[in-house]
Amino acid sequence: MDIQSKLNILAAAARYDVSCSSSGSERKNNNGLGNAHVSGICHSWSSDGRCISLLKILMTNMCSYDCAYCINRRSSSNDRAIFTPDEIVNLTINFYKRNYIEGLFLSSAVYKNPDFTMELMLQCVVKLRMANFNGYIHLKAIPGADKKLIDKAGLYVDRMSVNIELPSRESLKLLAPQKSAEAIFKPMDYLNNRIIEIKEDKKTYKKPPLFLPAGQTTQLIIGATNDHDLGILRLSEGLYNRYSLKRVYYSAYIPVSDNPNLPALLNPPLKREHRLYQADWLLRFYGFKAGELLDEKNPDFDIDLDPKSFWALKHMELFPVEINSVDYTLLLRIPGIGVRSALKIRAARRVGSLSYDDLKKFGVVLKRAKHFITCQGKYYGTSFTDLPIIRQFLLPSEKTQAPKNKFEQLSIYNMMQDNSSAVTGEL
Ligand code: SF4
Repeated sequence: MDIQSKLNILAAAARYDVSCSSSGSERKNNNGLGNAHVSGICHSWSSDGRCISLLKILMTNMCSYDCAYCINRRSSSNDRAIFTPDEIVNLTINFYKRNYIEGLFLSSAVYKNPDFTMELMLQCVVKLRMANFNGYIHLKAIPGADKKLIDKAGLYVDRMSVNIELPSRESLKLLAPQKSAEAIFKPMDYLNNRIIEIKEDKKTYKKPPLFLPAGQTTQLIIGATNDHDLGILRLSEGLYNRYSLKRVYYSAYIPVSDNPNLPALLNPPLKREHRLYQADWLLRFYGFKAGELLDEKNPDFDIDLDPKSFWALKHMELFPVEINSVDYTLLLRIPGIGVRSALKIRAARRVGSLSYDDLKKFGVVLKRAKHFITCQGKYYGTSFTDLPIIRQFLLPSEKTQAPKNKFEQLSIYNMMQDNSSAVTGEL
């Protein structure tokens, strides 16, 4: 098979991995500009926060496992291919020299067995570094591979990820019986310990080796099983706390199989995926705990409301709060007030009492926040006790809905006010 055919197959097969923001789109080019359908290049963030473009491919899609939700499962009838390590090295260096990419995102199906696959992937990254390639490399660790192989790979690449995919042991048993939770969590634990060790070594040695400077990440598939948002969020919280993960990526299940254990979805649950990204943001930057956002009685988010508004509506006994005196933790929890606005409010109110108009200048989204605050003792919201009416006000406006058959040039300033949450998950 020629290299172009391999590239077509193995770049397309890699699109289901969402450790970048460009996967999962079905929009093709109909005589216009661009094409989100074609895979091959994705974006990621380096340890210093730069967005970088990566060649995103699988080493092979020949899999000896048969995970029901996966397009590359053994029983699937799609075209198969495998790259040699040298082919990947040549492709990466050639694309890099042509300025198409700044790095490589290399994943793989389990070819023969986890060790054999990991060994092949390791050969790739070693050869790339021996060829003086200093670009960014994100490598997928194969669960179940020998820890010596994973350890060695960590010395050559910037980031590694071990994909959990299914959020519970029961789901793994049902849809991916050849995988085990232990085989997934062991390498995560190991990588985390090595990152900590190397950090410690930095205090003693002048130049300890680099080990995963951009840390580790994972991916969870949403909607392929009946796991609730609460279980998914608790898992993410545990991963951030226990393994210091840089990111948990959520990937709406794309229906690729008619296995009776899978839900009969027409479309991927993208809105649910987005709500989980927003909730993830609340865990990482707003001090929320999974158990505060959801509980056994309400184990799933209201799909129409962002998770912060969902939480606030369940805790109306805490509101309204006086903006000039509310403590910072609760200030951050008011719908319509983000971290940047909260910091500005905290700094400004040290100097003097803030008026309602001052809040606008600090970027507070008043049409949301006004239902939860008083300012200099005055309440500006509507029907504080009428939850359905407040909920109505918190629903996304037409402006933030995806435009139907309407295209316009995005302004970065409008985007920052209205749509930034859709891009980052920030609330
Ligand atoms: S091991 Fe990975 S590539 Fe193979 S079937 Fe399972 S999810 Fe797909």
